Formats: sequence, structure tokens, C-alpha cells
Amino acid sequence: MGRIIDVHIHCSEMDDDILNSYAKINGLEYNMKELIDLMKENGIESGLLLSPALANGIPVPNERIIELCKRSNGRLFPVLTVEPSKTSVSESLQMVEKNKGMIKGFKIRLGYRSVYPYDPVFYPLYEYAQMTSLPVMYHTGDTAVPNASLLHAHPINIDRVANQWDELKMIICHFGNPWFMDTAEIVYKHQNVYADISGLFLRGAKYSSKYMGYLAEMISNAIYHIGNVDKILFGTDYPVETYSDAIAFVRMLDIDEEDREKIFYYNAKKLFF
Ligand SMILES: [Zn+2]
Repeated sequence: MGRIIDVHIHCSEMDDDILNSYAKINGLEYNMKELIDLMKENGIESGLLLSPALANGIPVPNERIIELCKRSNGRLFPVLTVEPSKTSVSESLQMVEKNKGMIKGFKIRLGYRSVYPYDPVFYPLYEYAQMTSLPVMYHTGDTAVPNASLLHAHPINIDRVANQWDELKMIICHFGNPWFMDTAEIVYKHQNVYADISGLFLRGAKYSSKYMGYLAEMISNAIYHIGNVDKILFGTDYPVETYSDAIAFVRMLDIDEEDREKIFYYNAKKLFF
């Protein structure tokens, strides 16, 4: 097996982490030891660690994400979650300055905070991110809780940001699920917009295996629309997907071997390392 970079991993080791229920469905313990062991077993060279949300809707503090990464022996790198407030934006920028080279990007939770990506509160962040070439990741599409806003989480909103900030590197997480073709169009249209394929499916539903086949067809079609795989990134959204399922999914895409390696490794290597 070739090398792999996972651009979308969660972990907190906290009891009120909302992803604990997903871990249970997948039979995962969802802790740092298990994560590092799974990464080694599955050839995951490195990964980006993102803050999961707690039961009260607040994300796990970025400080904790940085601490967990420090315990990973250079395998995990933090992405800072930025909330739509002046304080969160300025604190995040200070944190990047303090941890130079370690932090790999920013993440914005659109649907969970009912904020559009083009909200002016993010302008200082975008200026900094554009200047430093640190990508901004957006949770787009379906949300893990029923009372979040799909309107704000729709990937079409990214087009407006990309028009305004043409050198800002942006990642549409979860391929905008289920708006795959909308996402494909935005990735096709803008040279600095990427998409990850993390967290697309869950085990245990009646039609789970058929659903995976349907998703593989949708993502393959999206790739044909874009015309190449150069801005598509592998991710699990651990513990939402298991490593074995996520890797099997990339093998189901109807693309050639060279492109699979780009998705698994080379695209992320170029963008983050
Ligand atoms: Zn996630």
C-alpha cells in the first residue's frame, strides 16, 4: 500500500464529545492511542486534527487540539477552529504566530453557527491565511445535529468568497454532501478551491453498502466534471468513518491508480507539507 495523509481527523478524549456516538456505531474506542495505532496499521503517514463539538455545541478548545498533536510524535498537526467572533479570529491568529510551522490551517463551522463564509467577521482571517498560504477548511453540507443550518452550510456560498479572495486556499469538507455536483462546479471554477471526501458514510443502515456504491458513483462523476483529481483530498472524519471503509471507498472510485495516489497522498502533501 502507498502512503496516505488523512486531512480530516477528530479526537478529544472528552466524555461529552458529540462524536462518541459515531465511534460507538463503528466499534471504535475513539482515543489517541487507538488513533495512532490505526494510523500506523493503515499506512497513514500524517493527519490533520480538528476540534470536534461538545454536547453544548461549543468546539473543543484549540489549546487541547494542539496538546493532543504534541503527544502524537509528529504524526498529527492541528487545524484551528475559528468561530464567527472578533475574539476567536484574533486569538486564532495569535495562536498560529505562537506555534509557527505546527498549525496547518483553519476550520470554520458554517451550519453549526449559522454563519456564511463571506461574513466580514472572517476578513482578517482570510487576509492572514492568504498571506501565509494556510488553507481554510469549511464544514459544508449535512450536519451531525438536526438544528443546524443547511442554508449556511451549502457549498455554493464558497463561490462568493473565492471570487473575492482569489489566492485564498479553501477546502470544502465532506464534498458538500449531498451537493456533490455543486461542489464539483466550484472546485472546477476556482483554482484555489479544494474538496475533501471525509465523513460521507456511516455503517449500520439497511442500505449502507448500496449507499457506498452510490457515493462512489457520485464522487467519480464529480471528478469527471472537474476534469482531474488534483484538488481532491482523502479524509476519514475519524471516528465517523473507519480507516478500512474510507480506504475501500477510494478504491471504489472509477479512476486510475495514479489518481488514487494523488487523492490518498500527493495532493495533501503539496497543500499542507
Ligand atoms: Zn469533521
